[in-house]
Parts: sequence; C-alpha cells; structure tokens
Amino acid sequence: MSKFETRAEYRKLYKSARWKHGRLAHLAVEPLCRYCRQQGITNDGSLTAAGLRQADPRRCFLVVDHIVPHRGDLALFWDRANWQTLCPDHHDRAKQREEVRGFSVEKGADGWPIDPLHPANR
Ligand SMILES: [Zn+2]
Repeated sequence: MSKFETRAEYRKLYKSARWKHGRLAHLAVEPLCRYCRQQGITNDGSLTAAGLRQADPRRCFLVVDHIVPHRGDLALFWDRANWQTLCPDHHDRAKQREEVRGFSVEKGADGWPIDPLHPANR
C-alpha cells in the first residue's frame, strides 16, 4: 500500500512519532518560513506574512508543508525533499490557491512548476 484514502488515515500520520521526529528534524534545518525569507523577512513563526508581530498566539508556529500536495501518496508524504517550512499565513494562502486551482503554482529552481498536476506538466 503506497496510497491512503481517507483524511482520517493521514490525520493519524501527522500524529505518528515518525512525523513528529521528522518535522522537528526539518525545522532544525529550515527554522524560518521559506516564502517570508524569499521576501527578505526573517520569520521564525512569531510574525505575520507582512513581517509584523503576530498578535494571535494561536498562529505563532511554523508549518512543515508538502510542496507538492501528497493527496494520499505516501512516497510524497514522507519525501523530505518535498517538505518546506511556512508560517501559518503563507500556509493558508498556498493551500487556498491549490484548492481553487487544483494544483500548486510553486516553481522549482529551474523555474518550472513542480506540481505534477500543474497544466504545464500534464
Ligand atoms: Zn511566511
């Protein structure tokens, strides 16, 4: 089985020791929001995407995000090259864009969209 089908199944993965340890290891390597950093903002989870102090303590954290949405694909889920650190603001925006379009518009170092579901990759 390399696929899992239900939200409940992957909710469980996010609670697993493997994810918790992997997440912490990722945050040790990439402790700042990647999108904020691209805009010159050093955000360790204490700022908004605009670089202002985050007033809501429930939004003071960092997300380990899947660059290419895993959509139940376990190989993508566990592929650390597919993980990136985001602040909650950027995570929400990235996820909203994906939900509207059905794919991520994130580009790789070569400037090509990395999501296999992006029209350029179909
Ligand atoms: Zn950010």
